[in-house]
Amino acid sequence: MANQCQMSKTTAADRLCVGDQLSNLPKIAEALSSGQIGYQATAVICHLSEQVGEKREYIDENDWIGFAQRFSIKDLRYLTYEARVLWDVEGFEGKVEQDYELRSLDISQTSGGIYRLDAWLDPAGGAAFKTAIDSLSQPLGAHDRRTAKQRRADALVEAMHHAMGAGTLPRRNGVRPHISISTTIEGLKGELGAAASKLESGMPISSKTVQRLACDGALHRILKAGSVVVDVGRATRSVSPSQWRALKARHSSCAGPGCDRPVNMTSPHHLEFWAHGGRSDLPNLLPLCYYHHRLVHEGRWQVIRAGEGVKFIPPERVIPRRVRGPGRRWAA
Ligand SMILES: [Zn+2]
Ligand SMILES: [Zn+2]
Repeated sequence: MANQCQMSKTTAADRLCVGDQLSNLPKIAEALSSGQIGYQATAVICHLSEQVGEKREYIDENDWIGFAQRFSIKDLRYLTYEARVLWDVEGFEGKVEQDYELRSLDISQTSGGIYRLDAWLDPAGGAAFKTAIDSLSQPLGAHDRRTAKQRRADALVEAMHHAMGAGTLPRRNGVRPHISISTTIEGLKGELGAAASKLESGMPISSKTVQRLACDGALHRILKAGSVVVDVGRATRSVSPSQWRALKARHSSCAGPGCDRPVNMTSPHHLEFWAHGGRSDLPNLLPLCYYHHRLVHEGRWQVIRAGEGVKFIPPERVIPRRVRGPGRRWAA
């Protein structure tokens, strides 16, 4: 029928439901044809009638015409949910389980390396997810130019880093979940012509990202002769737990301008980059949240000491000007 009428399956199902249920709801049908209530509101009431089956006798049509006139479609829909819980607890619980069965999270990677997520969550799970994401996706300071969608994406990544950093996730193959990067001394320093640093999957990442991750990571020195590993050094952390504790005692939040991310959601940044030989002592360390840490490394913001505090300087934006050659005119 959807094909025949050239409409989406959902719309077709909607129309069929209304057509079917209106015969059970004569006053609603009358209110629709006389223009007292709109089609969308009628469809919401008809769906309720279909879902509660024989219990549709509980639908007081005069009341529902009044609701349809008073409330928005969204609120009217919520009223139908409430009615279902009241009239048909078992049916409602069945639907809750059906919705839960629909849950899924698809994580795919494009050929360019970008990840794409596609998820379905049940109402309670989705509400928990949205509440957590909302709490992390407010703009961080006046200079924050990210779109709402970008802030939500950053919030998700930040929450995952926080979960991994807390060290409470279950071990896999004997180690806590973490990301591994292989690089060279030249790659770590960001020297021109250095071999690409790579994630475990083999996907190359930029030197700037390597330097950010090296600010707060564990490093294993691996010595190779050709392609043969001849020595593996012990892991050393770029910032020791005691240095990190001392830094947290000095700051209550991220040091980014106008940022209120609490210090336990930040990671230590080296003012003089660790990869460039910056020391891991307190005067050289600053706690930065995921967004501000990225801004300083990949976003090329500069952080400089200014008296007691620090100053964040945005990268100079060079706007290329078009130069008109002699005797040439711009096209209109
Ligand atoms: Zn850093
Ligand atoms: Zn911040």
